[in-house]
Amino acid sequence: MQNTATPTHCPYCALQCGMNLTPAPDGTVVVSERADFPVNRGALCGKGRTSAEVLARNVRLTSPLVRDEGGTLVPASWDEALERIAAGLGRTRAEHGPDAVGVFGGGGLTNEKAYTLGKFARVVLGTSQIDYNGRFCMSSAAAAGIKAFGLDRGLPFPLEDIPKSGCVILVGSNLAETMPPSLRFFTELKENGGTLIVIDPRRTKTAEQADLHLAPRPGTDLALALGLLHLVIAEGRVDEEYVKERTAGWEDARAAAMAHWPEYVERITGVSVPQLREVVRMFCEPESAMVLTARGPEQQSKGTDTVGAWINLCLATGRAGRPRSGYGCLTGQGNGQGGREHGQKADQLPGYRKLDDPAARAHVAEVWGVDPDSLPGPGRSAYELLDALGTDIRSLLLMASNPVVSAPRAAHIEERIRSLDFLAVCDVVLSETAELADVVLPVTQWAEETGTTTNLEGRVLLRRRAITPPDGIRSDLEVLHELAARLGVEKGFPTDPEEVFEELRRASAGGAADYSGITYRRLAEENGVFWPCPAAVETADADEDALPGGEAPAVHPGTPRLFLDRFATPDGRARFVPVSHRATAEEPDEEYPVLLTTGRVVAQYQSGAQTRRVAELNAAAPGPFVELHPRLAARLGAAEGDPVAVVSRRGRAVAPARITHAIRPDTVFMPFHWPGEGRANTLTNPALDPTSRMPEFKACAVRLEAVER
Ligand code: SF4
Repeated sequence: MQNTATPTHCPYCALQCGMNLTPAPDGTVVVSERADFPVNRGALCGKGRTSAEVLARNVRLTSPLVRDEGGTLVPASWDEALERIAAGLGRTRAEHGPDAVGVFGGGGLTNEKAYTLGKFARVVLGTSQIDYNGRFCMSSAAAAGIKAFGLDRGLPFPLEDIPKSGCVILVGSNLAETMPPSLRFFTELKENGGTLIVIDPRRTKTAEQADLHLAPRPGTDLALALGLLHLVIAEGRVDEEYVKERTAGWEDARAAAMAHWPEYVERITGVSVPQLREVVRMFCEPESAMVLTARGPEQQSKGTDTVGAWINLCLATGRAGRPRSGYGCLTGQGNGQGGREHGQKADQLPGYRKLDDPAARAHVAEVWGVDPDSLPGPGRSAYELLDALGTDIRSLLLMASNPVVSAPRAAHIEERIRSLDFLAVCDVVLSETAELADVVLPVTQWAEETGTTTNLEGRVLLRRRAITPPDGIRSDLEVLHELAARLGVEKGFPTDPEEVFEELRRASAGGAADYSGITYRRLAEENGVFWPCPAAVETADADEDALPGGEAPAVHPGTPRLFLDRFATPDGRARFVPVSHRATAEEPDEEYPVLLTTGRVVAQYQSGAQTRRVAELNAAAPGPFVELHPRLAARLGAAEGDPVAVVSRRGRAVAPARITHAIRPDTVFMPFHWPGEGRANTLTNPALDPTSRMPEFKACAVRLEAVER
């Protein structure tokens, strides 16, 4: 590998910041600024800047591990480890049937890996039981987007459109900590005269940037959006012409909103009627406006309806499918967007096709060279799959996920994982979940392999291999190739990412997420391509320059902006979905009088499996904490730094108190990046949204107890 800079992208969040990687003579890798990528223009947060530290041998897995007879994980050869996995999965399949074998993926997997994992589950194992941790991330927004617009692409416009809008309502996103380089789009918005409204129960670093910050009670964003729509109607601010021309279903949505009087909404949310009126004024007066949601409104047992209510607000005011206006979801995980498009979801086939659609099954089966009838149907969603471990599901193959830390009701899920007959984990580090495995395989990381991801804008990107992986490490694609062969499928599982992508292009062709016009060469030359991007011309050189004569492009340009002419529904109209307020699954009561909400801090990423191994990040965010209001702390008799026990119906977590006026007095906050005593997900409620099957991470009832130091 040359000692020159390789342009690539960050391994962490869905912003997928551009960066350069250069191998240094001492064997380390230098991360440097890459100014040509428009999303971050060279800026990186601390996680991206230090990302190369996880490439070091001393923090990562360097050999396969197998559990010996004494119960200890010990180094083993690749042959032995792969044989054990094939035998473990094969035995379960033979004894209990294919659906007794589960597969669990991750939103960090490249498109090629997510695609291959879905194909492996359905073609090699024949199981319907596959889902991934992205179900915990943005699935409610995806479900609401499909209902309203007929299509889910997180942002239907590039981030660069944000500063051109007149007003942005940011609901439940702390992007100043989760994706700091994106903050500049909102700073530019304000510099251009636009306004920023942030809705969050905490006065976060993002909320500090806002022109107006509303702090509703956790789990009440649905009522808040309905109250705003009520005022829009009452104040005569509905864009009647737009509603008539571009939407359907207004009357039912209107009636639902009219039942949510501002005073009623004030009682539910704690947001005053004058504040509601101010939001309506700020949102409706400019020519253009946007609503962006993130995990706050989405990670609820009514997340789909909550996002639907915000979409209704956009539709009623003509703020969707128009320049500088729209609804968007800020996807979280690195490949959270692509990971939900190509088949590792329980109900899905590549190209965002539905597994229960006969035409979709026939198309994909043809690409895969199998009988459509051999493809299993939809399986369980992520939490339901994890909950079935050890009972209906007896063996599990897990890639790029750490549910022992990141799943709701985590102690129960840990116990379910421990009860499995067989667990195999592919990861770069020995995560808390990998520690429980029968076999652990060390796999290559982003800098050591080529592959594509799709960022939160729907921009497909090429991550390039910059360095050679250490001896003893193989890629996830090589692992799946080897396992497929050992389980009797010799062909169809290439190890070359570009070869996989070429097959993915064909499998996605004609689907909602159509990648058929995208090639590695284009991605390298164009700095990313927005899907849908069908192959515009069916010729051998379809990705060459314009056709002779120049009128029709030989290459589809990609689609940075969706819905400007029509929505992706059969009649081209967006759908209002009538929704009504309902309580969180677990409201506070005498025994559990406080609400817990969970989230992230700037120096850690997701379950922390990688970032907790980086010294600088660990120093900045060494452990969990309980953020609480001074009034609550006084009632508890807790001072700053005192250990506080947070107890829910599912368990108990202890962490130091962090006392601040930045949170509501009826709410406590815990970040979820750590295992052990301070594991926030020990407490969280797995109540599921009926449509998206997203658990309610954002609100559960707890009580606080003082703990002796
Ligand atoms: Fe990486 Fe996200 Fe930080 Fe950008 S914002 S450097 S993509 S973690």
